[in-house]
Amino acid sequence: MSFADLPALLAEALAARGYAAPTAVQAAVIAPEAAGRDLIVSAQTGSGKTVAFGLAMHPELLGEDGRIEPTREPHALIIAPTRELALQVSRELIWLYGPTGARIATCVGGMDASKERRQLGYGAHVVVGTPGRLRDHLECGALDLSALRAVVLDEADEMLDMGFRDDLEAILDGTPETRRTLLFSATMPKPIVALAKRYQKDALRISTVGEDRGHGDISYQAMTVSPSDIEHAVINLLRFHEAETAILFCATRDNVRHLHASLVERGFAAVALSGEHSQNERNHALQALRDQRARVCVATDVAARGIDLRLRWWCMSSCRAMPRRFSTVRAAPAAPARRAPRCSSSPIRAAAASR
Ligand code: AMP
Repeated sequence: MSFADLPALLAEALAARGYAAPTAVQAAVIAPEAAGRDLIVSAQTGSGKTVAFGLAMHPELLGEDGRIEPTREPHALIIAPTRELALQVSRELIWLYGPTGARIATCVGGMDASKERRQLGYGAHVVVGTPGRLRDHLECGALDLSALRAVVLDEADEMLDMGFRDDLEAILDGTPETRRTLLFSATMPKPIVALAKRYQKDALRISTVGEDRGHGDISYQAMTVSPSDIEHAVINLLRFHEAETAILFCATRDNVRHLHASLVERGFAAVALSGEHSQNERNHALQALRDQRARVCVATDVAARGIDLRLRWWCMSSCRAMPRRFSTVRAAPAAPARRAPRCSSSPIRAAAASR
């Protein structure tokens, strides 16, 4: 299946974006055997999964003329675990569906809820949001899911890990039985399988994990550093790699605050990203990285989950639950290899991945 088989306005939007061919997960979800079916998809950040679910739900959104079908109540709902991811999904759907005339409302914690209620009141074809905020809107009557045709659970495993099960169930229970349910998850542990069993019918299982080159353009490097040397090692690594943009993961908000302050004190253009920052601060931090006004982002792994930044270098400092989360921030292709920096060694506490 190629993009040329899609409705003309979507194909044009993809071409304008410079996307010549579907990624593996996109090809799988727009294939004829997936049409109209519930889908359970194993796909990681970086696989093109956002555009994939955007394309998968086009039959639920577009009329025969390829333009958006008029409606007052949303026809599609996308639920994502974090504010950043929800905002990013919105941005992708806006360029993809903008030409069709679709209105996309975004509902995320930390933003002005009354503004979101007004947006929902004007009528949105697609709503994107985080579980807690969507549930609030549902319960106060601002979000009407009675006309919903498709619901997407993005990064479903993460939503369950973060304790959103009740919110998800409350939202899904408020949707029509006739809806399509598209479940995207990097991993498929038992709770995800149980969720799928409860809310999906005869779902088509799609797995592109391992097929995509995905993260094959990233080179990894591990270093052993004594705990007291972690901060110095991180700073030396940053200086050594002269990274245009780098992200440093920390285990806790406290670690983020401390490392960020140290970097700023040493003259690095650094921003911080953790749950203790307001949504506005987090948006500004990400924008500063995209504009390259900031070079280094110090973040908790949860706050940085799923965000799409063109990174030249990344590093984990005192992070515990890394391997799976680590694969959920997308990096740019590798730069030429450089000589490894000198680092003291002993107990393994810090790991660095560079390119
Ligand atoms: P995602 O997996 O949704 O986080 O997407 C990762 C990145 O791949 C985003 O920057 C997308 O804009 C980009 N992307 C998605 N689909 C394609 C495609 N067919 N061709 C090239 N890039 C794509």
